[in-house]
Amino acid sequence: MAQMIEKPLPIARDHVLLKLRSDGAPAPEPGQFVNIKAASGTDPLVRRPFSVFDYNDGIMEIIIRIVGRGTRLISGVPAGEDIDMLGPLGKGFTLINGGRALLIGGGVGNAPLFYLARELKRRGTSVTFVYGARTADLIYCRDRFASAVDEFIISTDDGSEGRGGYCTETGCERLSGGGFDRVYVCGPTPMMAGMARLAADNPAPMEVSLENYFGCGVGLCSGCTIETDSGPRRTCVDGPVMDARTIRWDSLS
Ligand SMILES: Cc1cc2nc3c(=O)[nH]c(=O)nc-3n(C[C@H](O)[C@H](O)[C@H](O)COP(=O)(O)OP(=O)(O)OC[C@H]3O[C@@H](n4cnc5c(N)ncnc54)[C@H](O)[C@@H]3O)c2cc1C
Repeated sequence: MAQMIEKPLPIARDHVLLKLRSDGAPAPEPGQFVNIKAASGTDPLVRRPFSVFDYNDGIMEIIIRIVGRGTRLISGVPAGEDIDMLGPLGKGFTLINGGRALLIGGGVGNAPLFYLARELKRRGTSVTFVYGARTADLIYCRDRFASAVDEFIISTDDGSEGRGGYCTETGCERLSGGGFDRVYVCGPTPMMAGMARLAADNPAPMEVSLENYFGCGVGLCSGCTIETDSGPRRTCVDGPVMDARTIRWDSLS
């Protein structure tokens, strides 16, 4: 259980920020997720997975993009209300101490990379962040991102803010300049698959955080199984963070 400590805050078109007090739950690792449900009844039946956007002293922040019934209900929970939450769950990002990291996010997939960026900075790592969005009014928390990292680049598909074109193009351009020790990517599946393909020959290790459909979120239903070079893996317990180069991306499309 967690408690909604403030009314969900609108932060961009169709996006809200939740602040939850999660006393008793362990501190999350960057890349882990929580499984939450607004209503106590059976509709919607299953909890929905959301990445941790930030965490400080028992307060967890989550960004929600409102896409359907579950996210609409969660984004309407009033301040003070209890919320059904399981987690933190799953396997997070591999952290490095020092060196340089390149983070590339697409849409709501930028969310887990914020907490990751803060943790990397705390460990003395220099962070370049490429924030991808379809268009300017979908960009959230830009000032928080910009002040948390060393280099912050916005890329919009339609060129309405920052650089125009896909964030994978900007990401690959920065990556081919060399000098990065690790690359972290989160966004829509075609974007992560594209980044893995475009950067196939780059020596820097690359991790992605998958956002494919979940059922139970705790490894029981196997509904989120994907194919990797070492066999089938369940995204919820073996991931959501995985090595980009071991994933058989065609099993996800
Ligand atoms: C590990 C993980 C972390 C995630 N982190 C976040 C996060 O930080 N913030 C956030 O807003 N969302 C996140 N998501 C996606 C989020 O879980 C879904 O958007 C949510 O479950 C939709 O619930 P709903 O009831 O509102 O939509 P539904 O009514 O179930 O679906 C509405 C529409 O959204 C589509 N949809 C639903 N789930 C997904 C999905 N996983 N991928 C692609 N399309 C989907 C459906 O096809 C449908 O068109 C994450 C997913 C995973 C697996």
